[in-house]
Amino acid sequence: MNKVKDSLLVSIVVNIFIIVMEIVAGFIGNSISLISSGIHGVSDLITDIFSLIGSHFSSKPANKDYPFGYGKADNIFSMVIGIFIVFIGFFMLKSVFGETATIPSVWLVVVIFISMLVRYICSNYLMHCGLKYNSEILISNAKEGKIDALSSFFLLFVIILSQFSNDVSWFKYLDLVGGILISVIVIYVGFNIIHHEFGELIGRQEKNTHLARNIKNYILKDKDIKKVENINLLKFGSTYLVIFAIYFNKNISLKAADLKRNFLEDSIKKKYKSVNTIILKMHFEGDD
Ligand SMILES: [Zn+2]
Repeated sequence: MNKVKDSLLVSIVVNIFIIVMEIVAGFIGNSISLISSGIHGVSDLITDIFSLIGSHFSSKPANKDYPFGYGKADNIFSMVIGIFIVFIGFFMLKSVFGETATIPSVWLVVVIFISMLVRYICSNYLMHCGLKYNSEILISNAKEGKIDALSSFFLLFVIILSQFSNDVSWFKYLDLVGGILISVIVIYVGFNIIHHEFGELIGRQEKNTHLARNIKNYILKDKDIKKVENINLLKFGSTYLVIFAIYFNKNISLKAADLKRNFLEDSIKKKYKSVNTIILKMHFEGDD
């Protein structure tokens, strides 16, 4: 978990750099879309800080009172973040509509190019760490960073085209349009988070078919087990509650079956670290 925290700290430092640079440059160079991009950075920063607190809290081990661990705390934290981001997005949208169209300074191109590059490199780094440490927080952070780098890329065009407002008069509205687009992206990202976390809190069936298939193949190595059915994965933060049914060969004794069941429960948890709890139903071939 410490490695995940370190990666989040890198993301926090990068975000602070981008926020300060974009908001200051946006004010000096008269670009509402760049200021919006900077405010978007504030929402990313808050997400990182909440993720840091959330991951600290949700990594507490399971105990007697909370047998499934604290993984869902992660979802609650993320849900609050999502709601907050939606609010920021609407706030941004409202402020853009209060502005009058101005032509941004051409030197902003340099600032935007730097923030695009930094965002792109940071996103790749977070994706690399996310895959390495199997952290969903980092992976979703990295995906969001990619969208941010892309929106910086579009901002480049906004600034460049705005310079030709004397030739094409409606180009002078491009900066405002850019601000609106960035606000809409922020609102969309916020709603996406809320939707995702809501599903996990309710207990949506997890589509990690890779893990389900591995567990199934592992169980079927035992020759006394004929079938594994109805594997359900329910997510608790970064761990899973796994529910399934196994069908024993009908010649096996009840005692032997019970021993195998205990062995399976222990060995699956040991082999697949992301499995937190196992609930399994035993059948004997010939049962209905
Ligand atoms: Zn972002």
